[in-house]
Amino acid sequence: MTKNIMAEYIWIDGKKPTSKLRSKTKIIDGPVEKLEQIPAWGFDASSTEQAEGHFSDCGLKPVYFIPDPVRGVPNILVMCEVLNADGSPHLTNTRAVLANIVEKFADQKPLFGVEQEYTLYQNDRPAGWPERGFPHPQGRYYCGIGVDEVYGRPVVEHHMKACLDAGMSISGVNAEVMPAQWEFQIGPLPPLEAADQLWLARWLLYRLGEDYNLYAKLDPKPMPGDWNGAGGHTNFSTESMRADNGIEIIKSACEKLGKFHSQHIAVYGADNDKRLTGKHETCSINEFRYGVGDRGASVRIPSRVSNEGKGYLEDRRPAANLDPYQIFTALLETTCGEGFDPKKYNWG
Ligand code: ADP
Ligand code: MN
Ligand code: MN
Ligand code: MN
Repeated sequence: MTKNIMAEYIWIDGKKPTSKLRSKTKIIDGPVEKLEQIPAWGFDASSTEQAEGHFSDCGLKPVYFIPDPVRGVPNILVMCEVLNADGSPHLTNTRAVLANIVEKFADQKPLFGVEQEYTLYQNDRPAGWPERGFPHPQGRYYCGIGVDEVYGRPVVEHHMKACLDAGMSISGVNAEVMPAQWEFQIGPLPPLEAADQLWLARWLLYRLGEDYNLYAKLDPKPMPGDWNGAGGHTNFSTESMRADNGIEIIKSACEKLGKFHSQHIAVYGADNDKRLTGKHETCSINEFRYGVGDRGASVRIPSRVSNEGKGYLEDRRPAANLDPYQIFTALLETTCGEGFDPKKYNWG
């Protein structure tokens, strides 16, 4: 028996330099068990910086869905790709590009895990920061506990439980170095699932933040000065990296990444130059270095991976405002293919 359910259609707009999420609700026949049951939809692209010429009708193509942990089962959250009126992928549709690349390198069985750092804001100040002046300098906040060290934990906990209720592969959360800064991790998962879940987890964080009067900023350097920036460390492996002696494949992947540093940086997030200064656990944006257990490198090979001789690498360069579809495309094309060129896709 079918009944009306609420489906929240979620898509990525064309805002520059950093796109953001949009969503609206459609009442559809449920319960939904398969993607094919979710109807295509559309929206007014003149309000999302995605209209070209006189045509402001864009299409929404459902590509992934999860149970809606806010409205509850059987309602759903639907990740959508943006299409032009003729059905072709819109220029801002970076997912369609990744979908092609994923097919090309499917035999390598890539996995991704993203560490999403963000800063909770209230009234244009990071949560818990004084109206005037500054909080106590950094040092006590990372993985802190207690009201003098962490701000916004109720929404962080709610968000983590919501992600689990929705069946997402959230792998952990922690308080970060700057007060009011937090991190959650998604993965490891195949590329499209990892990227779709990251965008949906962001949507959930914004949505739940409404109920706490807090909003999450993905600005890579929200506070100038001696305050850590916010990144989106991207952990990556292929089947051969995870197999015995995969460390050799990991090292040769790092060598290749060094040859395409500037091409990668072009899509690693706006304002990343303010974050990648060579201080605050980053490598300078003008330099590429990789190393074992080195949190000042561009790419870190975790010590455990080095000891075991297999596993994954951590690209520490992406900013918190990363588009995972672009980052994963770059990593796959450089390490599994001939190299990455953002111009090929009109990116960067
Ligand atoms: P860090 O020590 O850098 O803070 P975290 O524990 O925050 O590390 O995050 C590690 C990330 O690595 C997680 O997102 C996890 O999903 C991901 N990860 C673990 N194993 C793999 C793998 N084999 N391939 C890709 N990603 C992985
Ligand atoms: Mn982490
Ligand atoms: Mn972190
Ligand atoms: Mn990390």
